[in-house]
Amino acid sequence: MPSSLCEALTNSSISFDYQKEDDWITSGKLGSREAVLVFRTNILNPKIRKTLSEKSSAQVLTDTKDNEEEAVQCQEKLEQKESTSSEPSSKDSLSGSTQHKIFLLKKPQQCDKSDKLTFSSPFKKILNRYSSSDTSISSEGEEPASSSENKSRVLKTSQNTINIKLAADLSKESGYESIAPAKSISNTVVSEEDPEVTSEDDDESGTNMPASKLKITYKFHQTETKLLRKLFNVHGLTEVQGENNNFNLLWTGVHMKLDIVRNLAPYQRVNHFPRSYEMTRKDRLYKNIERMQHLRGMKHFDIVPQTFVLPIESRDLVVAHNKHRGPWIVKPAASSRGRGIFIVNSPDQIPQDEQAVVSKYIVDPLCIDGHKCDLRVYVLVTSFDPLIIYLYEEGIVRLATVKYDRHADNLWNPCMHLCNYSINKYHSDYIRSSDAQDEDVGHKWTLSALLRHLKLQSCDTRQLMLNIEDLIIKAVLACAQSIISACRMFVPNGNNCFELYGFDILIDNALKPWLLEINLSPSMGVDSPLDTKVKSCLMADLLTCVGIPAYSPEMRSHYDQKWSRFRSSSCQRQATFPSASQKTKKSKKKGPAINLNLTGEEQRILRNARLQYSRRGGFVRIFPTDDSMQRYGNFLDSANGIPISTPNVQSQTFQTPIIQHNYNQMLHQNLYSKDGRQKQEDNSEADRIWQYERALETDSEIPFVKKPTVEKCEVEGRRLRKVMLKKISNGSELTPFQARQTFSIYLESVLRRLTEDPKDNHEKIILKFLNKFGGSVKPPVMFRNMQNIKVASKARSAMVAKLLGDFLENYKRDTEAYVDSFDHFGMIPSSAYNQFLMHAQESDLEAVLTLHTNVTGIMPFLYNRCGLSVPPTPPIPSGLHGFLRALPSMVSSTGINRELSKYDGYFKSFDKEKIFL
Ligand code: ADP
Repeated sequence: MPSSLCEALTNSSISFDYQKEDDWITSGKLGSREAVLVFRTNILNPKIRKTLSEKSSAQVLTDTKDNEEEAVQCQEKLEQKESTSSEPSSKDSLSGSTQHKIFLLKKPQQCDKSDKLTFSSPFKKILNRYSSSDTSISSEGEEPASSSENKSRVLKTSQNTINIKLAADLSKESGYESIAPAKSISNTVVSEEDPEVTSEDDDESGTNMPASKLKITYKFHQTETKLLRKLFNVHGLTEVQGENNNFNLLWTGVHMKLDIVRNLAPYQRVNHFPRSYEMTRKDRLYKNIERMQHLRGMKHFDIVPQTFVLPIESRDLVVAHNKHRGPWIVKPAASSRGRGIFIVNSPDQIPQDEQAVVSKYIVDPLCIDGHKCDLRVYVLVTSFDPLIIYLYEEGIVRLATVKYDRHADNLWNPCMHLCNYSINKYHSDYIRSSDAQDEDVGHKWTLSALLRHLKLQSCDTRQLMLNIEDLIIKAVLACAQSIISACRMFVPNGNNCFELYGFDILIDNALKPWLLEINLSPSMGVDSPLDTKVKSCLMADLLTCVGIPAYSPEMRSHYDQKWSRFRSSSCQRQATFPSASQKTKKSKKKGPAINLNLTGEEQRILRNARLQYSRRGGFVRIFPTDDSMQRYGNFLDSANGIPISTPNVQSQTFQTPIIQHNYNQMLHQNLYSKDGRQKQEDNSEADRIWQYERALETDSEIPFVKKPTVEKCEVEGRRLRKVMLKKISNGSELTPFQARQTFSIYLESVLRRLTEDPKDNHEKIILKFLNKFGGSVKPPVMFRNMQNIKVASKARSAMVAKLLGDFLENYKRDTEAYVDSFDHFGMIPSSAYNQFLMHAQESDLEAVLTLHTNVTGIMPFLYNRCGLSVPPTPPIPSGLHGFLRALPSMVSSTGINRELSKYDGYFKSFDKEKIFL
């Protein structure tokens, strides 16, 4: 009797036109509950995609019936197995050939000797590569310094030929239309993500891929990750938008609404856990760790610099400062990318009532060639109970542009003390590596390159990485308790949630790692071939590891029915221990099974953990490991295995009428039992260290080229500008959307000039404008008090450019709300306006904005018509930079901003200067 899932498959109109779906589907046969999609980076390469589609046209359609029958048999086996054992079948376990195809990772024991001995050399394997100038994945909106020399190279397809047989024309049969991404101006950017640009082959979709046939969908919410979109599209996933919650994967840039989490079906995945802000908000993270310091002892949780949350803990800060003098680093509580950070020597330099997190500044950081650096490592949590944590084998090392000098006079300099890319990229000395192989060039290195570099200097990199693993585990343990209780309340299925965290770690010169913060939705923006390589591999491995179920909508409905039965029975199973009689019954049925005492839920957890581990790619599982109970057992509740950070509420939170389970204990016992009945997992300490130190190997070069720039014709620009000026003189107006768009493109040109050809005067104007404008873009205090500081011009330009960049990011996002859907009477027609924009240069944009403001007497690029407290429009002088000089006087000084300028000598002195010369 076929299962309902298999009926769904056989009855469905889907016919699979590839012979070896194992290349794209793993962990179970298509139609089984375990079957998930495989993601690979090689098909990001247009040449490889081309090879695939050529192959597919050459192949004869396979007998799909065979496939269906196989799936039916497989599902039957699977179901029998599920009721009798928790062990994945050898077929499913990926220990066989399928795993081979998925992992490009060579383990030490598989490695030949020379590989192992020479892993400190940059590459484990030199691959055949050839040049190509193919299109890029994306770029971060900035052109690499030497991007013209970029060599996008791809691996010969023979290296990892994907042996799938795709039939030619079945995309028509599926009748599925992909929904093209439609973002007109900029991306919705939240959390840490940097804005990205779009590239031409954006809508390229893998119509021949299994995911496309299965109609597997993804949804973005308040995020826009070009790289991820590309990965989804080439693998055949389709985007759903709006209110449609019929997605397989929801990727959000923000924390999720609980009603979405509550209603997740078992095949749906989301990229966050509820309440994970306990880890990702700076103030919450420090509080959670501080609690563990009190509860478990400082020596075990000395992983963060001493920290205070202001204004509540202002007094404690002063007391601490009197014990051990500063400096202190001041950060807004819920901010990222270095926004609003400044360093002070003493707490009295922090404005009163500043809401911020203040940490002891680590004055002796590890430096590379004299430059301060910090680490971004990627941590994947697939479950909090049991705790399953992976660390990605490769990370990013970010270097400050200016050489480190701990003298107090330099504390103002963000390009010396902060390593954020989003700050340093504006410094004219910032260097990007232009080749993915150059992992130790410029101001961004890979983690493995750093480890190799340190090893050459006889540093104990093994201990460093073990300490980093320990720091990660402890940080997660410190925050897990309330996330677990939220999961129990809101997450309907154990596999629904996963989360990738960006851990920022500073290493001091004694090689002790310090946790600075944990980022929600770490940036997937790419600005160089190196970035592209690391992040593409990371995302492909992440998606494969967490497992996007390979279900078509037809299969889903059957699965849903089945799941509701499964869930109610599993809940009942949870409610009681298997009774002695049940055990006997079971054992009679199963024979000498090894997991007699496991409940159905425990079997599912164990099975999932094993399957997931087999799909881990470049992820290194750091919890559980063979010694994790020995090392961290003390921090877990002995009865239920939950990491406890608040002993007084533990009984209320976790005492439930149902049985006490201890999933951590259970998983560890089953994965690492020494009784020889089961194969032990192989993520030994030596394996893990080896993996961190080797260079990331890609099976195919992942192309990256600079952001395509449109050639502008100066003459045409001048002509179109005349047309526009004439229209404005004749009474036509820019729509608010057009005005805002013109203004943002104009400011972008100014931003480019600030970084390429800094002009002191223009920096002051921009600073004044931004300061008056206020809002979320607020110059950091060090810039508000720099009257007496002789600021090095390059660093100041970088800082002003960074502030303007932040402003533009918000501004462009807001502009999306003004998009015109049709031409309005009396307004400039969109066709004429778009033509003008195509060739407009800074001076053309400035001329249009100037005339428009003078003629209309309104400033639609800053205020909408019904806005309150709109200042009178100042007369704009014509001529070069007249508009720029008038900019600050277009903004009224509100109460708050006047307050800021009060202690701002910089602006005071500037105020005295005449704006209009
Ligand atoms: P953000 O979320 O804005 O990136 P971070 O906490 O990551 O804030 O800090 C930004 C930068 O400041 C880091 O790259 C690091 O170089 C530096 N930094 C942060 N905290 C400290 C500290 N306690 N000691 C020394 N440097 C620090």
